[in-house]
Amino acid sequence: MTFATLGLIEPLLRALETLGYQTPTPVQTQAIPPVLAGRDLMAAAQTGTGKTAGFALPLLQRLTLEGPKVAANSIRALVLVPTRELAEQVHESIRQYAEHLPLSTYAVYGGVSINPQMMKLRKGVDVLVATPGRLLDLHRQNALKFSQLQTLILDEADRMLDLGFSEELRSIYAALPKRRQTLLFSATFSDAIRQLAAQMLDDPLTIEVSPRNVAASSVKQWVVTVDKKRKPELFIHLLKKLHWSQVLVFAKTRVGVDQLVERLQGLGFNADGIHGDKPQATRQRALDRFKASEVQILVATDVAARGLDIDDLPTVVNFDLPIVAEDYIHRIGRTGRAGLTGEAISLVCADEVELLSAIETLTRQTLRREEEPDFTPEHRVPTTDSTGQILKKPKKAKKPKISGGGKRNLGKWVDSGDTAPDPVAVKPVRKVPVFNTGPRKKKP
Ligand code: AMP
Repeated sequence: MTFATLGLIEPLLRALETLGYQTPTPVQTQAIPPVLAGRDLMAAAQTGTGKTAGFALPLLQRLTLEGPKVAANSIRALVLVPTRELAEQVHESIRQYAEHLPLSTYAVYGGVSINPQMMKLRKGVDVLVATPGRLLDLHRQNALKFSQLQTLILDEADRMLDLGFSEELRSIYAALPKRRQTLLFSATFSDAIRQLAAQMLDDPLTIEVSPRNVAASSVKQWVVTVDKKRKPELFIHLLKKLHWSQVLVFAKTRVGVDQLVERLQGLGFNADGIHGDKPQATRQRALDRFKASEVQILVATDVAARGLDIDDLPTVVNFDLPIVAEDYIHRIGRTGRAGLTGEAISLVCADEVELLSAIETLTRQTLRREEEPDFTPEHRVPTTDSTGQILKKPKKAKKPKISGGGKRNLGKWVDSGDTAPDPVAVKPVRKVPVFNTGPRKKKP
């Protein structure tokens, strides 16, 4: 299979040649023909699968061959993405694919001045990549009209819902022309995503290029159990012991990111951090320096977890486990890309057992556990597995109630301290974080 046999026009083929793309990836093979034919699409594709080209190539072709010239303050195609970083990255890819086409492209997102964006939109733009909040601001200030819009693309749709953009998506949806092509891309399909698709898509073709909710098999994953307060020490120990050349580290909070970066820098490590409190320019600079291997350790909240294309990243560390299990897949998707192998190590404390269990259930695997000799936790992390059971060791062995002094097996790992549960009969009771379509959460 070649890009030419998929029906792409010569200027696109020329751009792909320059980029060194020789063979279409599976998502491209499956998405390009139906999108060219004008169909709606619902695609499950992990990051790193080539999904951007999967939607952008046929989109650019249709915009070139069909439809009117773009009018002032108008757009002909809209690509919605969850984060500013992703907006920049997706736009850069589209710009490269459109190199030899008479089409204009642009990206808008919050955290930077809106005025230059309004100026740029005056002449109209064929393809606009946008984060939902800033797009609505521009629309409400009459800098942007949707009457010419012929294609809408929701990229990383699950992430948009998870970041609490469902209200914004509803408002955008209400403002768009009813007759349009819609493509939805999501790394994972949750119920909320299916609901969104039912609302926004018209008889979509569904494609799935990787097993649902399964992390790439090229990533070697394991857990190191540790007490919460010793995580920084353990991280530094592993960094030295395993000679990590470049590592992306995920922490739960902005404060957590800053504290770890400060500690690492204090020890002379080449570390930087990105999170939502930092200005966009600072975030982008840290990311660019990390991509250029000028920074060895990048510590991030989940803003950096999705969609970012960092070549050949060998190691991802979950300093804290993600609150939403799906984010685990996105985080570790930063490594083991494009046929390379990678490793993903999670530092897990007893408080995080439910999060670990949710991840194991979602990815249908029991993560291998290791202990570092000097870091054996005082608070043991209860045993978990891919069925969702959390098997706690009783704190104290209770005295047997039965008379006669007969020895009784107290059961290895039961909450109540009575008999061991039948693994089939006992339904796990645990709180699994779910995607929510409710009110906006604080950004990470
Ligand atoms: P994406 O999943 O869209 O973020 O793409 C992941 C990476 O794969 C990007 O660096 C793309 O430039 C690259 N890529 C996409 N399609 C191809 C292809 N057909 N051949 C080679 N590289 C590709």
